[in-house]
Amino acid sequence: AVVLTLTVGATGCGSRGGAAESSSSANPSDSLVGISMPTQTSERWIADGANVEKSLKDLGYKTDLQFANDDIPTQVSQIENMLTKGAKALIIAAIDGTTLTDVLAKAKEQNVKVIAYDRLINGTPNVDYYTTFDNYTVGVQQATSLLTGLGLVDASGKKVDGKGPFNVELFAGSPDDNNANFFWTGAMDTLKPYLDAGTLKVPSGQTKFEQAAILRWQAPVAQKRMEDILTSAYSSGTKLDGVLSPYDGLSIGIISALTSTGGYSTGKLPVVTGQDAEKGSVKSIIAGEQYSTIFKDTRQLGAQAVKMVDAVLKGNEPETNDTKTYNNKVKVVPAYLLKSVIITKDNYKKELIDSGYYKESDVK
Ligand code: BGC
Repeated sequence: AVVLTLTVGATGCGSRGGAAESSSSANPSDSLVGISMPTQTSERWIADGANVEKSLKDLGYKTDLQFANDDIPTQVSQIENMLTKGAKALIIAAIDGTTLTDVLAKAKEQNVKVIAYDRLINGTPNVDYYTTFDNYTVGVQQATSLLTGLGLVDASGKKVDGKGPFNVELFAGSPDDNNANFFWTGAMDTLKPYLDAGTLKVPSGQTKFEQAAILRWQAPVAQKRMEDILTSAYSSGTKLDGVLSPYDGLSIGIISALTSTGGYSTGKLPVVTGQDAEKGSVKSIIAGEQYSTIFKDTRQLGAQAVKMVDAVLKGNEPETNDTKTYNNKVKVVPAYLLKSVIITKDNYKKELIDSGYYKESDVK
C-alpha cells in the first residue's frame, strides 16, 4: 500500500505539494508490479509483456507477468493472485474491459495503483491512468490506407477523382474491447463520404459494427465470415476490391478466405489492411499479399506505462496528454496517447528495420 508521508520543514513553511510527497517506500525495488496481458496468441502482447517487464526490472522493481489465454476468469484470478502476493501497482491490458470491477475494488482497498494498458478498463472508478495509442486515429489510418490502396487517395493524402466504384467489405474488432469501437468509428468517419457517394459499395450490405465485429479478435471467425460473404454476395462473379481489417491476425484469416473460397491469387488480391505490424503480416506485405498495417511501437507504450507506474509509486503525478477522450462510464481516465504509423511495402524498411524494431531477417 502507498503510505502517505508529509514532510513539513523545520521552519513550518515546507510546501505540501500533495502527491509529490507521498511515497510507497524509499526504494522501488521493494515493490512488486503485476503485469496482466490478455493472450500469447498474438506477437504484440508477448512483446508488450516482455518490454514492460524488462523496463520495470531495469528500474529495480519486482514483476509478476501473466498472460490470460483470452479467458476472462483466468485474467481475474491472475490479478487476484498478484494482489495476494502484495503487488503495489498493476499494469493491465484487459480482455473484456468491463469484467474487472470486483477485482479492482479489492485493489483499491489495498491502495494498489492501476494503469490501463492499451485497452481502457470500463465501468470502474478504480483505474488511475491509461496509456495507449490514439485509437480513433488508428481507425482513420486503416481506412486511409484502404483508400490509398484502391487509388482513391494519393500518397500525399489528396483525393483522386474519377475512380471507382469499388466493392469493399468491412471487419471490426472484438466488441468487448473498448479500442474496437474507436478503430471502427475512425475508419467509418473516413469512409462515409465515399460510401455516401457510391464510390465505395458494400455488396454484403453488412455495414454495422455488430455485423462486422469479431469476438476476441479470432482469425478463424474472420475467415469464416469472409468465406460466407464471398459465397453469398460474390459468387456471381462480382469482384471484391478491398477489405477493411482492424488487426493483422484477422487479415491472415481474411486472406486465406480470399485465396481459397474467393480464388484470388497473389498480385490480384483485394486491398487488405491490418494493425500491429506483426512479423508474418509484414512478410505478407513484402510478398504483395496484405496491403498495409498500422505500426504501434510497443517499446514506446511499454516505456510510457513503466514511467506512469514509477511516478505513482514515488508519489508523483504521471505525465498525461489527454484528459477528455477516455470516459470509462464512471470517470474520464487521464491518458497518455502515442502516435501510430501506416506501413506499406514502401516504408516498412524505414519504420520497422531502421528503427530497430525488427531485424531484416525477421521479416524476410
Ligand atoms: C489492440 C490492437 C490489437 C487488438 C487485437 C487491441 O486492443 O489495440 O493493437 O490488434 O487488440 O489484439
